[in-house]
Amino acid sequence: MKTAKAKVPRKPVLKKGSQTNLKDPVGVYCRVRPLSCPDQECCVEVVNNTTVQLHTPEGYRLNRNGDYKETQYSFKQVFGTHTTQRELFEVVASPLVDDLIHGKNGLLFTYGVTGSGKTHTMTGSPGYGGLLPRCLNMIFNSIGSFQAKRYVFKSNDRNSMEIQCEVDALLERQKREAVSVPKTPSSKRQADPEFADMINVQEFCKAEEVDEDSVYGIFVSYIEIYNNYIYDLLEEVQFDPIKPKLPQSKILREDKNHNMYVAGCTEVEVKSTEEAFEVFWRGQKKRRIANTHLNRESSRSHSVFSIKLVQAPLDADGDNVLQEKEQITISQLSLVDLAGSERTNRTKAEGSRLREAGNINQSLMTLRTCMEVLRENQTYGTNKMVPYRDSKLTHLFKNYFDGEGKVRMIVCVNPKAEDYEESLQVMRFAEVTQEVEVARPVDKVICGLTPGRRYRNLPRGGPVGDEPLVTEVSLQSFPPLPPYRLLDINDEETLPKLIETLEKRHRLRQVMTEELNKQCMTFKALLKEFDSSLSNKENYIQEKLNEKEKLISGQKSEIERLEKKNKTLEYKIEILEKTTTIYEEDKRNLQQELESQNQKLQRQFSDKRRLEARLQGMVTETSMKWQKECERRVAATQLEMQNKLWVKDEKLKQLRAIVTEPKPEKPERPSRERDQEKIIQRSVSPSPVPLSSNNIAQISNGQQLMSQPQLHRRSNSCSSISVASCISEWEQKLSPFSTPVNVTSLARHRQQEPGQSKTCIVSDRRRGMYWTEGREMVPTFSSEIGVEEDHCRRGDVFKTRGGGQSVQFTDIETLKQESPTGSRKRRSSTVAPAQPDGTESEWTDVETRCSVAVEMKAGSQLGPGYEHHAQPKRKKP
Ligand code: ADP
Ligand code: MG
Repeated sequence: MKTAKAKVPRKPVLKKGSQTNLKDPVGVYCRVRPLSCPDQECCVEVVNNTTVQLHTPEGYRLNRNGDYKETQYSFKQVFGTHTTQRELFEVVASPLVDDLIHGKNGLLFTYGVTGSGKTHTMTGSPGYGGLLPRCLNMIFNSIGSFQAKRYVFKSNDRNSMEIQCEVDALLERQKREAVSVPKTPSSKRQADPEFADMINVQEFCKAEEVDEDSVYGIFVSYIEIYNNYIYDLLEEVQFDPIKPKLPQSKILREDKNHNMYVAGCTEVEVKSTEEAFEVFWRGQKKRRIANTHLNRESSRSHSVFSIKLVQAPLDADGDNVLQEKEQITISQLSLVDLAGSERTNRTKAEGSRLREAGNINQSLMTLRTCMEVLRENQTYGTNKMVPYRDSKLTHLFKNYFDGEGKVRMIVCVNPKAEDYEESLQVMRFAEVTQEVEVARPVDKVICGLTPGRRYRNLPRGGPVGDEPLVTEVSLQSFPPLPPYRLLDINDEETLPKLIETLEKRHRLRQVMTEELNKQCMTFKALLKEFDSSLSNKENYIQEKLNEKEKLISGQKSEIERLEKKNKTLEYKIEILEKTTTIYEEDKRNLQQELESQNQKLQRQFSDKRRLEARLQGMVTETSMKWQKECERRVAATQLEMQNKLWVKDEKLKQLRAIVTEPKPEKPERPSRERDQEKIIQRSVSPSPVPLSSNNIAQISNGQQLMSQPQLHRRSNSCSSISVASCISEWEQKLSPFSTPVNVTSLARHRQQEPGQSKTCIVSDRRRGMYWTEGREMVPTFSSEIGVEEDHCRRGDVFKTRGGGQSVQFTDIETLKQESPTGSRKRRSSTVAPAQPDGTESEWTDVETRCSVAVEMKAGSQLGPGYEHHAQPKRKKP
């Protein structure tokens, strides 16, 4: 007994003439079933033989406020409502059977919502055999006469096949038949009337180019996947309807070639369509019973019917199966009727059934995810893990998508409006699946033995009794025997003539035989020649093939290298893209920041401008104010100077009057009238202007006004010197008289004027003259002194800024000494009074200080007194 490795399903292995580089997309077909009731609203329309169009049904639009939408979906082929089972089979399934017979794997599944016609398509309905019986029919039509004897091939539980010689097989057959007669199905049995009309396929369908030098065995298995558990539907378990035993689920295993298979799954060898379908029907019945008894949602289970074809070449004599396990090929065609693809809530299942249904739905979801990942991997060259293991269904078919084979899907659609939403989902899944590519299965390995072995050792001329012998043919070509009749016993002519004729014919026959033999020899020689040339050619082809293979392997390694390079580059690109994204993000952020900063800057700029404008306005306002203030102060100062001048003039006049007076016996009290007359005669100075705001406002040219007092001051200073000398002279002259009396009288005279009660001590440092100690008192312009005094008394502290030291003017004298001549010298120095808060405000010079003081006096403190003092003098002239 020999064991053959399972080929189904297998990983692509580099073999002779391998075409593993080639890939085909999953063939997706669409079948639209007819409406069960012609009045129903239809939402699916077949546009042409590759396109269907779905449109939003009326009810759906009204319920969901949806817009009217038309969506078109393309398929490899679309089958309309009138498509027959035969048409569908010929297009979709027969190529898969063809592949199966040529040692290639195939997977065909129906997908759609419940009631869309999946089972009708796959199994068929009474009178309308589906794809499954048609496939079986085609298989047995093709390999019928080349089938191996039963039990020559034996399946084992390691997903491989064992092979035994015909004698062993015969022995086993006898043994089994002796043990259980009814269990062994018979190929000769009549089809069960239950399904007879489903397998009664009228059309004769046969695969082409079937290898006649091989023997074949067909094994079928039937499993159901429900709630993510696998159940063997062909397992021989007695079903007890009273106390039903829970069916045992099967597990998935991986064989040494990494192919998935259901461990311990029953594989039944079948020899005819009837027998195979009977096995299927048995499983189907079992499934139905289990569903009923276990209260299952039958539409929620996946069923997988697998047809395994085992093929082994005949030996060199063409008599027996070659007992070489390497030469055995196993191919498999899986026909899958998937569970309804509708969402769980549609079935209104509850409790555990809902959970189970969820699991089933989960397996379809996994199938969908697998397709999506596969497509992504194939489209973008990524290497994402396909989640086959997430469900039994996908795990079982992993090798079809990972390995090689032909995968086809029939999307079944019920055009009724209620299925619209589900149909949309089905279409989307179909779209994804169409883009998945599966490696094209490799061609069958050529067996090294000479083809035509099956018939070579049959008796010459072919099977006996079937065809006429060559000798007969030659005899037929002889001229017919003349009609010889023995008329009487003494007839001596006829017999010798007959003998002669027969001898002639015998000779002719001998010649012909010789000729034939000669021709045979020639033909044999020719055949031998042909054989040798064929083997030569074969060798040549083999060599060429080897060469090509080498080339291909070289190219493959090159491709691999390039692919690796490509992957590296892709990885680099990915990294670069990521980096670019990061940089772009940074750039965006920075730009945003820049914009915000710009906006902020703009805001600040406009704020600044506004502030500038406001400050400008304030500055203008303040400068105007200060200008006015200055003008006012200048006017005040001018006025004050004029007053001073006037006072000095007045004093001068008085002094002059005293001096020029004829020497009296007794000093006369100066008469005001007289003085006034004199003043009128001599005065050149302008009379003091009463200090009023009106007058100040009238003064427009400050400069001119400033120059006037200076002029007067100069003349005044000259005159004051002369006056001083005069006074000293006069003092010497009038030594007997008490000067203080005069002064006192003068002072008294002053005191008579209200608001002028203060007496001042005036000093002149430049000249070293002091009118001090209360004796030598000269009436002076008390208002000025009062101003200064008042100013100092308020505790003002004057500081020189340059030295940083403060110079405190504590007495009036000091201040007076500085003014008016001292003030000139210090015009540029800045003196600032200390503010109550400790800060320093700037004072331009003493003059200003004075003017301010005067102004203050004029405006508030001294105003009334001053006016009183001045006004009468104005009235005098
Ligand atoms: P599914 O397996 O998808 O749930 P079925 O194959 O059981 O659906 O179909 C439900 C019903 O519709 C069956 O009675 C079947 O005969 C009928 N049917 C389905 N497809 C067709 C078709 N193409 N032509 C005629 N009848 C159909
Ligand atoms: Mg069904």
